[in-house]
Amino acid sequence: MASSKLLDRVAQKYKSKGISLTEKRQKILAVLLNAKQALSAYDIVDAYKEEFNQSIPAMSVYRILDFLMEIDLVHKLESVNQFLVCEHAACEHEHAKAQFLICDDCHSVQEISVDKSVFNTLSNSVANSGFSLRPLQLELHGTCLACSEN
Ligand SMILES: [Zn+2]
Ligand SMILES: [Zn+2]
Ligand SMILES: [Zn+2]
Repeated sequence: MASSKLLDRVAQKYKSKGISLTEKRQKILAVLLNAKQALSAYDIVDAYKEEFNQSIPAMSVYRILDFLMEIDLVHKLESVNQFLVCEHAACEHEHAKAQFLICDDCHSVQEISVDKSVFNTLSNSVANSGFSLRPLQLELHGTCLACSEN
């Protein structure tokens, strides 16, 4: 799907929830969608300038990303400090806890959902050691199908 069409649908969806995606927010989303891979905040600053011929301060990028993450429209990959648009951005269903498969060769990222029981088992065994866990997000590194076929 072309990113502008997807963006329209996303903006429409959030509008109906009373959340407005301002022009800057939509531009950040467009940058991420066009990138086809996760980007760091500084990659976004650079790509933004290139795509829109406009500079945006890193602070604003972080602020917008925080907002977009809060509404589950953008996810952060903690292990690589990069951001990507949710694969369910335009979906109407409830967002499950996101998990990611990260290809270390081509850096593509796939968002998957993992059965709740996996997390329950994990957090139970962690709880037994008295350690308190931050909300779980799995980031599994490896090789994607396309790369492993090469
Ligand atoms: Zn998501
Ligand atoms: Zn979906
Ligand atoms: Zn790959």
